[in-house]
Amino acid sequence: MGEVTRKTLGEELAWQYANLARVDVALKQGAKKFTTIHHMVRMRLYKGLVNGTMQMGSFCDDEKYKIGMNICCYCNSPDHLGVDHLFPRQKLGSDLAENLVFACRSCNSSKRDRDMLSWLHAQGKFPGILLLRRYLKLAYFFCQKHDLMTRPWEEALTLDLPFDLKNLQINLAPLSRPETLSMVHSTRLAPEEQHGE
Ligand SMILES: [Zn+2]
Repeated sequence: MGEVTRKTLGEELAWQYANLARVDVALKQGAKKFTTIHHMVRMRLYKGLVNGTMQMGSFCDDEKYKIGMNICCYCNSPDHLGVDHLFPRQKLGSDLAENLVFACRSCNSSKRDRDMLSWLHAQGKFPGILLLRRYLKLAYFFCQKHDLMTRPWEEALTLDLPFDLKNLQINLAPLSRPETLSMVHSTRLAPEEQHGE
């Protein structure tokens, strides 16, 4: 319901972030299905982001969530935790706190320089909403900084970015199913969403 046509990289990122806000509200209410209110939240945020009257939240809220977290943000394991770069260093990921997450040794060495969403997708997993929000913010601010927001989607696909644009829409499809998602924990993809790579 209420889909919009996205033509630019900025519009697509705004739409996916608005999808995330819709899930966030539904989960906080304990709703299993989206209602009209949730769709309105999404549309309002999308329009606000695109016309510049609204901004994405700062990383500050996400930082609070990281403090005291003692599980791997990719597989939920509490064992052998270290720090991982969400956007890989090899792909311009920074050493700033906003790009650092807790990850277990096993996930760290498996993910390496791969895109977080594509890598999880290949394992039949979907990230927790808080991790995904951080990922989308990093993507959004990267594109703002490099003046890429108005690039047409088709053209954007040819750019060398620190995240995987090609599979973004497919990999974010689970955002339409709030009943299966978690704020903090990664979850399993539904069988029909598992495409492999
Ligand atoms: Zn892990």
